[in-house]
Amino acid sequence: MTKPVAKTLAFRPGERNIFFHILTACNLACSHCYINPTQHGREMVSRQTMEEWLRLFFDPAKENNLIFLGGEPTLHPDLAHGVKFARALGYASVTIDSNGFLFHDILQQLTPPDAVLSFSLDGPDPAVNDPIRGSGVFAVCTANLQQAVHLGFRTSLIYTVSRRNLSHLHRMPALLKSWGVQRFFIQVIGLRGKPAARGEADLQLTPEEWLATVPAVARQAAKLGIEVIFPKVFLEEDEVFQCAGRVAENFFIFPNGRVYQCPLCEDHPLNTWRIEDNQLVKNQGLVEEKLFTLDIPEGCVMNKLLQPGNLRYDPDGRPLHRISCCLLKQEMRPG
Ligand code: SF4
Ligand code: SF4
Repeated sequence: MTKPVAKTLAFRPGERNIFFHILTACNLACSHCYINPTQHGREMVSRQTMEEWLRLFFDPAKENNLIFLGGEPTLHPDLAHGVKFARALGYASVTIDSNGFLFHDILQQLTPPDAVLSFSLDGPDPAVNDPIRGSGVFAVCTANLQQAVHLGFRTSLIYTVSRRNLSHLHRMPALLKSWGVQRFFIQVIGLRGKPAARGEADLQLTPEEWLATVPAVARQAAKLGIEVIFPKVFLEEDEVFQCAGRVAENFFIFPNGRVYQCPLCEDHPLNTWRIEDNQLVKNQGLVEEKLFTLDIPEGCVMNKLLQPGNLRYDPDGRPLHRISCCLLKQEMRPG
């Protein structure tokens, strides 16, 4: 076996990623939740709208990847229909991002080739996970995850790292291996939603903390045969900064019709597009795509706008680290 190596996953032309929030409701109330009903409403898209919008965003000339999100997407009674409809249209991959509760018998309504099931868990045991995600959540999520694996579904697990659970991250690879999970997404706590509203910048990791822990755990998981994806976060000296808003095709769709290009903009009415009468309409005025054109030495413009206090500079005013696009990922594959 060769040594696992981290590879930056460059933005790929010809690829279109559609992040479809089909509702904002959820059965949980995680402390770091980024869902913002003030901005995105409390509606659920109807079955017909789901079909119309899946058609609207499908581009036959591209590789179309679809991620169903909420709130909790399995609360939507037509999720299984949406998955099958998307597959029939030609979407290359469909993923369901769930908190693990798997409502509406989704495991029985789908077959393994239909979709990848992604589970969110923020700790290797209830003592770490449940204070963040809710009492009893670890038990339900891990039981359903193992049931999905048992039925033959491809599964992944998302662990959102913050100061609260960083020291437990190293316990995850062995657990994932024992559960049969194929992919491990290590996510960084966001600058959006509840933590942003509460000003909880102290939950975020410093570059030193992130770099000292995350790549090592990723390597450990890859050695166990698990594919690991984690955000780049800090660019190396020789790496070129790229804003996905300029070079990639990502659509973050909300049930009230807002469509963003950048997830960091979602707490604000900066969406480049809106859907009106099932058509994509470009917004005028100050919208996110105007911000993408600003070249700044710190890298990501939205990061600078949302948390300027977290950036550090040398005595000459040069940033110590450039922040990469939050959509730029690294991959650590089994060697
Ligand atoms: S499961 Fe997701 S949508 Fe639900 S509260 Fe937690 S973070 Fe928010
Ligand atoms: S996270 Fe930053 S770099 Fe990435 S799309 Fe948004 S503004 Fe651009």
